[in-house]
Amino acid sequence: MGTPRSTDAPPQSGAPTRLGPVQLVGIDGDDTLWRCQDLFDAAVQELGQLLAGSAEPAAVADALHERETENLSLFGYGAKGFTLSAIETVLEVGARAVDGTVVRAVLGIGRRLIEHPVEVLPGADDALAAIARTHPVVLVTKGDLVDQERKLAESGLGRHLAHVEIVSEKSTGTYSDLLRTLGCPPEEFLMVGNSERSDVEPVLEIGGWAVHVPYRTTWRRELVEAPSVSHPRRRAAPTLADVPALIAPLSTRGPERP
Ligand SMILES: [Mg+2]
Repeated sequence: MGTPRSTDAPPQSGAPTRLGPVQLVGIDGDDTLWRCQDLFDAAVQELGQLLAGSAEPAAVADALHERETENLSLFGYGAKGFTLSAIETVLEVGARAVDGTVVRAVLGIGRRLIEHPVEVLPGADDALAAIARTHPVVLVTKGDLVDQERKLAESGLGRHLAHVEIVSEKSTGTYSDLLRTLGCPPEEFLMVGNSERSDVEPVLEIGGWAVHVPYRTTWRRELVEAPSVSHPRRRAAPTLADVPALIAPLSTRGPERP
């Protein structure tokens, strides 16, 4: 991936940001390549309906979010952790009304999440193929290992990827370790994803580049209060289809290979 070099100098007033060179592209899975969060949103709604006799849907959603946040270090991200936290939520919120039927209903909500067919987002296949023609692409996705492996296999997108990394958390340490393993200096790495918290902020923090591609809904945990929107190594793209054109000027590799 070449030798480390500094691209971190803040832009001078009126001067263009020094570009690239980006040599390796990371890409997120959930809500960047395939649908995810709206399925969880629907599951939270179902849970609210299940507990409608005990609490307002917003209160159920808040209680679930609290349980999920508390349990993250134990259960990790993904549908299985969601399901366990949802069971805890019904026991807490709907204590008097909870019986085996309710628990089975919650397990059903979780199972449908896990078994839901993978839906690749419109244009994601073509956009990923375009990026992969100019740069090696590594999938960096967090969540349950089995579930993420299933999503990747069902998506059919693995053929565009040089490497797959399924992690329990996307922190600065995770990205640093990954880039050390792959032999890529942070300043030559660019991450693409929908989450400011997981895909953008930690990568900027270690000296890499990031492209934020928003999804129509974002899990509240993935939001950050003050995203680094004016960071010189941050870009924003309305859709994944816009990403190849954003990466091109940050790369030293020139035009796409035939
Ligand atoms: Mg995501």
